Amino acid sequence: MQPLSRNEARRLWRAIIEFDMLDKGDRVLIGLSGGKDSLYLAHLLSAVRRYAPMPFELAAVTLDVGFAEVDYSSLHRFCSAREIPFELLYLDMARHILEEGNRQGPCAVCAYFRRGALCRYAAEKGFNKLALAHHHDDAVETFLMSILYSGQIKVFEPVSLMERTGITVIRPLAYFRESNIKASNIFKEIIPLHAGCPVCKDTQRARVKELIKELRRENRSIYDNLSGAMRYGKAITLWPAEPGKGEMLERHRNFYNKYKHDRGLRKG
Ligand code: SF4
Repeated sequence: MQPLSRNEARRLWRAIIEFDMLDKGDRVLIGLSGGKDSLYLAHLLSAVRRYAPMPFELAAVTLDVGFAEVDYSSLHRFCSAREIPFELLYLDMARHILEEGNRQGPCAVCAYFRRGALCRYAAEKGFNKLALAHHHDDAVETFLMSILYSGQIKVFEPVSLMERTGITVIRPLAYFRESNIKASNIFKEIIPLHAGCPVCKDTQRARVKELIKELRRENRSIYDNLSGAMRYGKAITLWPAEPGKGEMLERHRNFYNKYKHDRGLRKG
């Protein structure tokens, strides 16, 4: 198995240490879709487990939601070469995910159910952490998508506790750019799987990714500016919260009462 390069180790340890991601005795379940990001995550975590100063356990689970028939044998081999126990879970959700009328779109529904199913599985099997393969580009895109499509300023956190299951979700690729992942040599060993999702080429994320790419052609700082804006500690100047109808009526009343006397004088 390939050892980590210095650059990989630096990015991974920065996330682990800065966000306090791993602890001695952790039982970490990797959400392994079989796509390039999750394969890379499994590779990194298995490599770092060999020399980390604290022992932790790893296992991987793939959730098949029924988009298409997929052969998972390459995932079995990939995990067994890295001594990662591997499980396949079937959950027939494809129709529900793609249902017309999902207000937030199929991807939001898909991500919500997938995360829920993985957390429940992790809790049932005694894991305390779920490692997901979201990387830095995902975070920046999610931040912009949130503003554009839901009018909220938010982004997923590198570490977050799922209150219902008690599982802590960790994202060890937080400091990896998508280009770092694509350049990895592990893809000479395994071809990433495609889950057969019919909407994967036409998503909000794909449009936002394209938008950022296009804006960067004019201004190279666009990506870094977005990335900087999603962190606490940056200057934030926002309009005050929108008042409710009742509060606005009250303000109108107070405003006119304040000038009642002057209005009377002007009429006279
Ligand atoms: S592209 Fe398909 S698989 Fe990916 S999140 Fe959206 S619905 Fe789910």
